[in-house]
Amino acid sequence: MATAAFARVCESPGCNASAKLQCPTCMKLGIQGSYFCSQDCFKGNWRSHKILHKIAKGEGVDGSGENKDYDPWPNYRFTGKLRPYPQSPKRVVPAHIPRPDYATHPTGLPLSEQQVKQVAQIKTLNDEEIEGMRVACKLGREVLDEAAKIIDVGVTTDEIDRIVHEACIERECYPSPLNYYEFPKSCCTSVNEVICHGIPDQRPLENGDICNIDVTVYHRSFHGDLNETFLVGEVSDTAKKLTQVTWECLDRAIKIVKPGEKYREIGHVIQKHAQANGFSVVRSYCGHGIHQLFHTAPSIPHYAKNKVVGVMKPGHCFTIEPMISQGSWRDEMWPDKWTAVTIDGLLSAQFEHTLLVTDTGVEVLTARSADGGRPYFMDN
Ligand SMILES: [Zn+2]
Ligand SMILES: [Zn+2]
Repeated sequence: MATAAFARVCESPGCNASAKLQCPTCMKLGIQGSYFCSQDCFKGNWRSHKILHKIAKGEGVDGSGENKDYDPWPNYRFTGKLRPYPQSPKRVVPAHIPRPDYATHPTGLPLSEQQVKQVAQIKTLNDEEIEGMRVACKLGREVLDEAAKIIDVGVTTDEIDRIVHEACIERECYPSPLNYYEFPKSCCTSVNEVICHGIPDQRPLENGDICNIDVTVYHRSFHGDLNETFLVGEVSDTAKKLTQVTWECLDRAIKIVKPGEKYREIGHVIQKHAQANGFSVVRSYCGHGIHQLFHTAPSIPHYAKNKVVGVMKPGHCFTIEPMISQGSWRDEMWPDKWTAVTIDGLLSAQFEHTLLVTDTGVEVLTARSADGGRPYFMDN
């Protein structure tokens, strides 16, 4: 297979001009990319760009995840220690790969999702659609497996995004998050106090971090969605326990999935187990129906006593993706309008599978084929 050609666009945020000028310091340091369209864009972007040089030289990071040179929101009071780092230029998906409607919408609006939003009806997939979901979900799993191979201390979340992006393209998939409501990257990477929707950036992962990688691929009109939390290097016992319990929450919830079960029971099972271990359940983000649409009915809360209506039927496809927090369940959003963090800056973990309700129970469409479906953190 031939490799895809990537257009080089200017690194400067908002400038999509084609770019030939490469930063000389980056060239010297062996940093990939760093193309600019003009001296003006290069100089105008210098303040945030030069942090890349410091990171490459092992400077500018004080060991707490803090980055003193890059401060995009001087008035924002962070809840924890994690800070944003500069982002790489937007990645391109070759034109021959079919994409969902929002991929080409100027502000990333999924019009097909919005059209059916009033209808709370849950779609029952036919055999052909079910097969489409099986294929998309299997490919999504393969993409996450590729990311799992490289996640480590010192690897940036942007590098994880690059691997995910390229693994999607190799499999004729469009990375579903890219441009979804203008999300700028091809996967979500949520580190430590980030609950979900973290944006991959130039921050190198540190020993002791936990990092969730959330992958969704779009293949032949179907989306497949999964995520896992990974332990980076040696993590604290609390981080290990939180990750373990979060996995168990998903595992226990999957076990009740069968025709006739109420969707609201999922939250009951999850909260019971989280609470019994002293942890809390995030309430602002839910599991979702998924098929030709990325996010659709039903919406599936992970907390108890939710009032969601609906009963599972064979042919329903949806995700369960509990976000479990070490302290408060409350969340807030970074000024980037995506990164959801815990209000107390304590850890949050998550696991996700895409599921199909069968005549007799459930099929986990995004299960790991190797190791009996065990998540990666158990290998550590
Ligand atoms: Zn996901
Ligand atoms: Zn999802």
